[in-house]
Parts: sequence; structure tokens; C-alpha cells
Amino acid sequence: HVEIRDVTKSYNGVEVLSGVSLTLEPGEVVTILGPSGSGKSTLLRTINHLETVDSGWVAIDGELIGYEHRGGKLYELKERHVLRRRTQVGMVFQNFNLFPHLTALENIVEAPVGLKRLNRADARELALGLLEKVGLADKADAYPRQLSGGQQQRVAIARALALQPKVLLFDEPTSALDPELVGEVLDVIRELAGLGTTLVIVTHEIGFAREVSDRVIFIDHGVVLEQGGPGEVLGDPQHPRTREFLATVL
Ligand code: ATP
Ligand code: MG
Repeated sequence: HVEIRDVTKSYNGVEVLSGVSLTLEPGEVVTILGPSGSGKSTLLRTINHLETVDSGWVAIDGELIGYEHRGGKLYELKERHVLRRRTQVGMVFQNFNLFPHLTALENIVEAPVGLKRLNRADARELALGLLEKVGLADKADAYPRQLSGGQQQRVAIARALALQPKVLLFDEPTSALDPELVGEVLDVIRELAGLGTTLVIVTHEIGFAREVSDRVIFIDHGVVLEQGGPGEVLGDPQHPRTREFLATVL
């Protein structure tokens, strides 16, 4: 499971995460809601150590991400060690972030070959299977610019899955998409949720959150203000800030 303990993070003296603690059980689907600037992306980025933390820690199945304990203190790991541990965490970004000069297939093959020493033939096999899973078996040789936003995002999801991460993070995966393309991406995420993948999803798609989440977390000014089942947090929010926020997005 994923353990996030007392994580704090400041930028230029301003605290954007203030002692966030969360434990994610295997197979759990957690959605994170919160206003712009509340620290949602920063929180996701600390989980795979794209961002350092000022204090606290993140561990996956007991292994610290980005740091190690020595003599009671935490030390940041060297980049190559970070890369290995980071393979346990997949991330899907708002703007897809595919490599523009690589085909859909090559985008997926890259990480397992580079980080997990999978041979290219096996990686291709894996990648083709994943493209099929996201409904893009016929687009293996297309470049990102030849794909719609929804297709690019589905390739990005396949790419993240290629490392067989223990947890998959989504940072507003549909907010850069034209409305008619949102559904196809949500369908893929919904399917992953049904398969028991551990997911953390930052989204403003409240209906979707209600449907797929085991737990909904509301974060404001870097603090988890409220969490619970979707029926509780979305249906009967207790904190006035949660109510206020939901009123703006519903
Ligand atoms: P949004 O819904 O707009 O994506 P968010 O909840 O994801 O917002 P974050 O991106 O985590 O918010 O940002 C939290 C705060 O930290 C914001 O005030 C932001 O300006 C600031 N911040 C984020 N990244 C950096 C950075 N690299 N340097 C300085 N400030 C940053
Ligand atoms: Mg964000």
C-alpha cells in the first residue's frame, strides 16, 4: 500500500502542503478534489518524487520513494535509485506529455526497456497488448500529432501501465480534452478501477468521481479538510469549504 505521512512542502516560503497524511489500500480508487492552487498536483508529484518534500515521507509497500533512512535521518537518494523506485508509480498528466518524435508504440516501449531492462521484442509485445486494452491497436504506428487528444491520453495511460506500477496517478486527465473526447478516457480509467488497480485521480468530473471512487478527498490550502465515501463527501459534505467548492463545480 501507499503511505503518505505528514508531508509538507513550501515554495518560496509559502506552504502548499501542510502535513498531509493518507494511506491507500491496494486496489483503492481515491479521487482528490479541491480548488485551483490547493496543492493537488504538488501532492501527486511528491508521491512519485517529481517534487521533493520539506518534511514527512512517502512509502510504497514499505519502501521510501526518493529518500532513504540512515542513522535516524532521511537522505535524498541519487537519481538512478529514484528512477528505479519511481517505476512503482505511474503518472498521467493533463497534457498527455507523449514524446512527439516517437510513435504510440515507441512511446510505450521506451520505459520498460530503459528502466526495467525488458528486451525490445518483449516490450513491443507488452505495448501492443496495452494499446489493445485502451482500444488503440490500430494506432501503434501513429505519431502523437496524428492522434486526437483522447487517443493521446489513452496512449499515455498505456505508457504508464507498461511499468506495471503499484499505483497510478492521474492529474486532471480529461481537463485538456474537448468535451466529446472525455468519455473515452474516463471509460479506460473506469475499466482500470474495475480491475483492482490502485488509482489516485485529481479531477473536476464530479459525476465520474462519485461513480468510481472508494474514497473522495477534499483538499484546500494544502490540508485534507474532508474525506470519506463518495456518498458522504459529495452527497453530504460536512465542511463549509467542501460545500462551497462543490457548489462551484456542480
Ligand atoms: P490546479 O487545480 O490549478 O491545478 P493545484 O491544486 O494542482 O491547482 P498546485 O499546482 O499543487 O495546485 O499548486 C499549489 C500552489 O503551489 C500554488 O499556489 C502554485 O502556484 C504553487 N506552486 C506549484 N508549483 C510551484 C513551483 N514549481 N514553484 C513555485 N510555486 C509553485
Ligand atoms: Mg493541478
